[in-house]
Amino acid sequence: MSTKKRAAVIYFPGRVDRKKLSAAVDMTVLPLGWEPTLWLPTSEDETGGVQVLRALAQGATRLLIVGGDGTVRECLEALTKTEDYDTRRITVGIVPAGTGNVLARNLRLDLTDLRRSVIRGLTGNRHPIDLGLARVIKDDGTRTELIFSVMGGVGLDAKIFAKTDPRLKKAIGWFAYVEGGLRSLPTLFENLKVQVDNREPRHVKVVSLLIGNAGWLPGNLSLMPDARLDDGRLDVAAIGPRRFWNWIGFWGRVTWGNQLLRLSRVGKQLLEASANVKTIENLSGTKIRVTPDRPVHMQIDGDSIGMIREVEFEVQPRAIVMRL
Ligand SMILES: [Mg+2]
Repeated sequence: MSTKKRAAVIYFPGRVDRKKLSAAVDMTVLPLGWEPTLWLPTSEDETGGVQVLRALAQGATRLLIVGGDGTVRECLEALTKTEDYDTRRITVGIVPAGTGNVLARNLRLDLTDLRRSVIRGLTGNRHPIDLGLARVIKDDGTRTELIFSVMGGVGLDAKIFAKTDPRLKKAIGWFAYVEGGLRSLPTLFENLKVQVDNREPRHVKVVSLLIGNAGWLPGNLSLMPDARLDDGRLDVAAIGPRRFWNWIGFWGRVTWGNQLLRLSRVGKQLLEASANVKTIENLSGTKIRVTPDRPVHMQIDGDSIGMIREVEFEVQPRAIVMRL
């Protein structure tokens, strides 16, 4: 196997200044004598996964993903589903170019300095992180497996995703939608059976249930203060309206969001408006199976995937190596 290094830049053309990007990449790569850089723009039909496969086929060792949450998610999915994918050889860097940038925020990446992001993404320190795998049975009975980096959710948050204008969602962040939804929609509880690892399944009644690999959302809102990207576990948070403050009382040990969460000013305002988030203590695990009593909406990393009958989330420990 060749030991030559090769960068592949997968980028969303409309979202980035190609000249600036080229200059930053060349400045980083040329002095190191790597193989010629591969430039792989995404398109309407090919939104990241195909580009990853092309990059690997042409010997790329350092993937640089320039895009938003959807592009990042799809690239990571294609990468980790590739049979001979080897984390010792292939690393991933991200240049945030969306408006949510949930993974980039959780990695504390600089969201404004393109040049710095390129240098770090191609030549920064190795940093293994976990990913989440969602095994989904859709409403129509079809099965699918999806990779996520930050979180998946069922219930109202996912339903709102499915029904709102993506531009508006991007402008104000999806949690704002959940908030807005809780205030304006008739409250709709979902009855879910939740099983963590091999523990006794429990029945919960919530508006939304979130399963997180990492805990930060746009707006610097921390839903799951204990969630870490590299602890080999997934965490659980539940969302419901304050006016039914006992909605999750049967869980026993839960922590009220406002007391615990480290919040930005905006995040705090959002939370205090009317909704509440409870991180469910001692409820992290490697595998979390959620079975609703009727089909529910689901989202992963902010992408709606429609109605589902059942989903099993499983952590994929240290599935990728990031350059930071
Ligand atoms: Mg974790």
